[in-house]
Amino acid sequence: MENKKLLFRSTNGNSPAVSFEQALLKGLAPDGGLYMPEEMPSFSPEEILEFSNMEYHEIAFAVGKKFLEGEVPEEDLRKIVMDAYDYKVPLEKVIDNQFVMRLDRGPTASFKDFAARMMGRLMQYFLNRNNGKLLILTATSGDTGSAIANAFYGLDNVEVVVLFPEKEVTDRQRKQMTTLGKNISILALDGKFDDCQALVKQAFGDSDLDYLNLSSANSINIGRLIPQTVYYFYSFAKLRSGDINEQVVFSVPSGNFGDLCGGLIAKSMGLPVKKFVVATNENDEYPKFVKSGFYEKLVPSRNCISSAMNVGHPSNIPRLVQMYGGKMDENGNISQAPDMDNIRKDMYAVSINDADTELMISDAYKEHGLLLEPHGSVGWAGLQKFVKDEAIKQGQLCISLETAHPAKFPEKIIEILSFDPELPPSLQGLEDLEESYEHLETGYEVFKNFLTKNYS
Ligand SMILES: *Cc1c(COP(=O)(O)O)cnc(C)c1O
Repeated sequence: MENKKLLFRSTNGNSPAVSFEQALLKGLAPDGGLYMPEEMPSFSPEEILEFSNMEYHEIAFAVGKKFLEGEVPEEDLRKIVMDAYDYKVPLEKVIDNQFVMRLDRGPTASFKDFAARMMGRLMQYFLNRNNGKLLILTATSGDTGSAIANAFYGLDNVEVVVLFPEKEVTDRQRKQMTTLGKNISILALDGKFDDCQALVKQAFGDSDLDYLNLSSANSINIGRLIPQTVYYFYSFAKLRSGDINEQVVFSVPSGNFGDLCGGLIAKSMGLPVKKFVVATNENDEYPKFVKSGFYEKLVPSRNCISSAMNVGHPSNIPRLVQMYGGKMDENGNISQAPDMDNIRKDMYAVSINDADTELMISDAYKEHGLLLEPHGSVGWAGLQKFVKDEAIKQGQLCISLETAHPAKFPEKIIEILSFDPELPPSLQGLEDLEESYEHLETGYEVFKNFLTKNYS
């Protein structure tokens, strides 16, 4: 039997359906929309039950296969996932049946490693096959840049340019990007994350730059979302009681909503999710939307201590709206309303302010010995609010995602808990490495000049 390839369509609906390879290498659809699978693949309850006896990379293979059938031969996919996922995914029991899933054991100690490592390897795979080349442009509020830079470092045929807001990242986050070199260039901007993202978007829309073969590694790329479904399957499979009707609650600290979309995709593939707690910081445009049904982006975004979530208009929202039957363009305009009742049934959206984020870092440690950093604290605080608000019964399986290692935010942890968290091996030795990056004035022409001068 001929393998039928899954096709991917733009959320804007005005460009042709493409293969996974094209969606991955392009990033954004020509009509400005985001690629989504034309049909959602699914797992039977029996297949999901089998995950309980599988290792992480085996589950990643099973999920990947559903999307890449006919595009990447099984033996190549198996090598890619084994190579990408060679680190642990701890599930830490905190209270009752509530767990924290630590997604911070990859090479840059951020959950973004899960997506970046898979995406880098897949891009490399396709480029090698076709003798292609790419220039990846990515804007970062801290963690994306280092995860992408690390995942693409030293790859053939791919150059990477990372833009970051100089005042919004920690020293350690900066050093994770600026100490690499080779095919990785880093640009510091005196502005906000949104300014960085705007420059990158403008470059993608600039036909003068077509010859550079620009691509994006931001969470608009479907290649990042698919790997982010895997840990939802994994954690449920490892923690379930065995009851075939069991459902799970996930709490997801959210910024651009790529992580959450991974979870929503897992749910639509058959994962029995009772509720997603969508926990944002003070950038509360989504919780407001869920409440009122009226979406308004937040300009400018608010600066919070969970800096990777300082997003006033999450780039993945059009995907979410589409999964609930609606249509939203990249600017946040809704031309067809999603099913708000279903959104409210599946999601509990909550905004956690900085004061409560800090308080939770302190309480969680003192009461349960649970060490959280600001992003994970937003997730855990959101979960606690949900459990209380909706009078969730004892024994309900709940999994809160910790998206970065506390040692990435030593200043905050020292201030709140009075100790310096121990560095994971991947972050050790950074202090001694030499940094190299350029300062760039904000403004598109300056950025464009940089690209045309340095790349051909
Ligand atoms: C990027 C990031 C988030 C937010 O993830 P999204 O997919 O953008 O919602 C949360 N925590 C940390 C540490 C991050 O780096």
